[in-house]
Amino acid sequence: MIEVKDVTKRFEQTVALQSVSLEMHQGEQYAIRGASGSGKSTLLYLLGGLDTPSSGEITIMGNCLQQMDDQQLAKFRNRMVGFVFQFHFLLPSMNSIDNIYLPAKIAGVKISTIKSDVEQLAERLGVVHCLKKYPYQLSGGEQQRVNLIRALSLKPALLLCDEPTGNLDSQNSSLVTSILIELAGQFGATLVVVTHDDQVASHFSRSFWLQDGAIIR
Ligand code: ADP
Ligand code: MG
Repeated sequence: MIEVKDVTKRFEQTVALQSVSLEMHQGEQYAIRGASGSGKSTLLYLLGGLDTPSSGEITIMGNCLQQMDDQQLAKFRNRMVGFVFQFHFLLPSMNSIDNIYLPAKIAGVKISTIKSDVEQLAERLGVVHCLKKYPYQLSGGEQQRVNLIRALSLKPALLLCDEPTGNLDSQNSSLVTSILIELAGQFGATLVVVTHDDQVASHFSRSFWLQDGAIIR
């Protein structure tokens, strides 16, 4: 599913990732762990085609990301990847439900085909009351859960999450992590979750540990 070969990423003097190689298998669930600044987010952005390595190669479902042009990458992200970021990116000018439907609109997917799934997800995540509200009217945790629905709405083959429960208390954090794992399992998505939270990580049987930009375990 994912093959990372000898990837290095530099930001001027900083080496954020150092000769990282790894493989991830379709439908499996992985945690990426390590201290703050160890390169976790950088790795996740590279896997999602949001940034490019300084050297090395990333192949996802047979597509080498470095060989795609911007348009192909944008299409890859829209069709194949769901993102959940620590600093969630709901568009402030749209209410929650319009934010959730945005990837479908971009992909040309009929809203009617995902509507009932979206409503069920909102119910399970306890954010039905948020759907007509704008991001500024929601708490950080509510925004995070709305964002999660948006990321899951098109049943992406690859679900990339950066500290997806960073704004939640430990009880909700555990609930959202379980739901994430269950849903990814249901539609066969490969799930990659960056976390420095031991409790979140304990839900995953496979972990990659980063230290100073290198995989140490
Ligand atoms: P983590 O997510 O594990 O906390 P990051 O991947 O965000 O770590 O960062 C790894 C290293 O790369 C850090 O030293 C960070 O300061 C640096 N870094 C990350 N993104 C950038 C950037 N856009 N410009 C410059 N340095 C960056
Ligand atoms: Mg980070």
